[in-house]
Amino acid sequence: MATKVFKNYINGVWEKASSGEVFSNTNPANFNEELGRFQLSRKEDVDRAVSAAKEAQKMWRKTPAPKRGEIIFKVAEMLVKNKKPLAEDMTREMGKVLKETLGDVQEGIDTAYYGAGEGRRMFGETVPSELPAKFAMSVRMPVGVVAAVTPWNFPLAIPSWKLVPALICGNTVVLKPASDTPLSALRLVELFEKAGLPPGVLNLVTGTGSQTGVPLIDDPRVDLVSFTGSTDTGADISVRCARQMKQYSLEMGGKNAIVVLADADLELASEAVLWGAFGTTGQRCTACSRVIVEKKILKNFTNILLEKTRAMRCGDGLKPKTDVGPLVNEGQREKVSNYCEIGQREGGKLLTGGTPETGKACKNGYFFKPTLFAEVSPKMRIAQEEIFGPVLSIIACNNLDHAIEIVNDSDFGLSSAVFTADVNKAFEAIEDLDTGITYINSSTIGAEIQLPFGGTKGTGNGHREMGTAALDTYTEWKTVYVDYSGKLQKAQIDD
Ligand code: NAD
Repeated sequence: MATKVFKNYINGVWEKASSGEVFSNTNPANFNEELGRFQLSRKEDVDRAVSAAKEAQKMWRKTPAPKRGEIIFKVAEMLVKNKKPLAEDMTREMGKVLKETLGDVQEGIDTAYYGAGEGRRMFGETVPSELPAKFAMSVRMPVGVVAAVTPWNFPLAIPSWKLVPALICGNTVVLKPASDTPLSALRLVELFEKAGLPPGVLNLVTGTGSQTGVPLIDDPRVDLVSFTGSTDTGADISVRCARQMKQYSLEMGGKNAIVVLADADLELASEAVLWGAFGTTGQRCTACSRVIVEKKILKNFTNILLEKTRAMRCGDGLKPKTDVGPLVNEGQREKVSNYCEIGQREGGKLLTGGTPETGKACKNGYFFKPTLFAEVSPKMRIAQEEIFGPVLSIIACNNLDHAIEIVNDSDFGLSSAVFTADVNKAFEAIEDLDTGITYINSSTIGAEIQLPFGGTKGTGNGHREMGTAALDTYTEWKTVYVDYSGKLQKAQIDD
């Protein structure tokens, strides 16, 4: 069967890139399976997508927000209907197991329902004026044209986190998804088209970071860049945006930790640690890559983790018995292998894993064995740098204060978790852990869409996605004073 060729979506039309070039999208669990070919877009395509978004802005910003919400609501309904096929395609596209890709689509559903409702809220403020016969309020206005640049690990959820709030707030969008996962993003755009989104309001250009992403970020008609991806790319984007005084929101890497105190429920804690470390094959920005264990229980807890890690099965994410799918591509597998070598050179004790999984069921994919390092010290590179693979480091601590010190000794600040039965210790941790998200007695993963999502330090630049916090990224405040006194009243001057 001929491989399907997918097109860009610009100004309401599905069309080829002007270069005529395409790139291939293959299954990381079976690199002989090609899912499709996608347009390799360059500056000319980006130019036209941004022109379409700029033109559509004039109409979309005037469309009442509840009407925008109705279209987004329809997208939610269609996502519900198409949940399973979307999830199956996603597993083929990037490897994570089906129950997780179903969760990824569910996150898109939740985001769309929540965002649709925002069309009738989007609260501003009305406050008293200091002068008589004067009304004072603030309202939200769209920022303009948004460039949404997304990674491959949440191929539908992360585009939805950006598209839904951007569109409900009256912005128009050009979406550039990761070149490893263009299909899931394209399927989402198709649903917006079917739901009746007018031409030009949402545009899709597929391609690489350098050929497609850079011209999009650099286009002076883009008013806001919303980026999720690695810290290196985010740093590059921030410099480009700063030169043009352009707004930008960055969600980047993590080096997340779970603290397990001596009074914790160790069975529960071990399940949470493994789910955090090996879910999505460790390729989550919120993945647990450090577990910080109180010395009193170190030996016992390490044994529990080791036994459970050894029992995990790698394989195709579409097979129900698979615990851990493949890494997304060969580059990612090399990176993870390198870190396992670095960890051993630095003196970490490799308890299990550390090499690619090449058994019969895994020989055609980018599989890597779930890996456990013990005797890791907080300054080792494997304890400091984002690995983005199924590698977990066990670090010993003396007590909660020591654990907090270790967690905070990181360039990143996304997610943290503490297992304890002591409510006082739990609140102390909430207060002192320098991360955007903290879980008590749960893993580092599992964010819900109605609350802010994002991190401190090298993880972000102060913005948050999801919840009402997302509205702050996608709107400008307009402050309005209406003076109905019939005379010139002077604030701060009139008595
Ligand atoms: P990446 O930075 O390589 O790519 C992300 C996106 O940016 C892709 O679409 C890519 O094509 C594009 N891109 C790359 N270089 C670019 C450039 N110079 N200009 C414009 N666009 C460019 O990241 P990735 O490998 O796709 O994703 C993994 C990273 O994403 C990890 O570091 C992970 O922690 C992070 N992540 C963070 C969050 C969060 O919310 N904090 C969520 C998911 C993933």
